[in-house]
Amino acid sequence: MSASAGDRERVLAHAAEALARARHAIALTGAGLSVESGIPPFRGPGGLWTKHGEPPLDGWQRFLADPKAFWESRLRPEGPMRELARAVEAARPNPGHEALVELERMGVLRCLVTQNIDGLHGRAGQRELAEIHGNARLVRCVGCTSRWPREEIPTDVLPPLCKRCGGLLKADTVSFGEPIPADVLRRSMEEAELADCIVVAGTSATVYPAASLPHAVLGRRGVVIEVNPHESELSSVATFVLRGPAGEVLPRLVHAIRTARG
Ligand SMILES: [Zn+2]
Repeated sequence: MSASAGDRERVLAHAAEALARARHAIALTGAGLSVESGIPPFRGPGGLWTKHGEPPLDGWQRFLADPKAFWESRLRPEGPMRELARAVEAARPNPGHEALVELERMGVLRCLVTQNIDGLHGRAGQRELAEIHGNARLVRCVGCTSRWPREEIPTDVLPPLCKRCGGLLKADTVSFGEPIPADVLRRSMEEAELADCIVVAGTSATVYPAASLPHAVLGRRGVVIEVNPHESELSSVATFVLRGPAGEVLPRLVHAIRTARG
């Protein structure tokens, strides 16, 4: 049985009320939000790996074994990596990204944790941001986690080294097998400890560490608001399920909070 339009409006209003009332609300976003900006997902229909086959799962080991070769392939990406780089280059924030910025500006949202590597949340203006899988536009030191825009790092000698600690630099995007950078992991865990409400948009949140966030909030009887056009593993445990693309649902959530505040 599908919910009527009236039911959906009521659920949205209740979710908006819970979000506005939260002491410490956070958000978690994933691939669905990027797809709405034209970036292909990795898996599923139209996914990069569905089309091109799974990439090697030992990217981190390859980097450590031969950072120069890793950089050479990064500077001249081929196949799915080239397709992804072009899509990231062309992508623009969508109304879902903009609504999340608005929630931050309204003082509703304290932090946004994302699995997306396209940097679109930052470009939209999100300030309190933990990009747990990195940012394709940045280069990170594997020693001290300092980050720089990619274009600021000279690549005439490979691999480039950190000007702060001399450590190896790599693309900030977290490779297969690579630990989540300590700073963003710590931040997302701290936020999960504080949060009494989480908006989960465009992700089924099945991959650690993202998966632990909604469950930490639920474990303390907090509120989980799922925004997703599809049923996910989170749907059955979420406090509120708002069905639809983030680019449509999140602006309506912002509008509902504004209306309630008068
Ligand atoms: Zn360093």
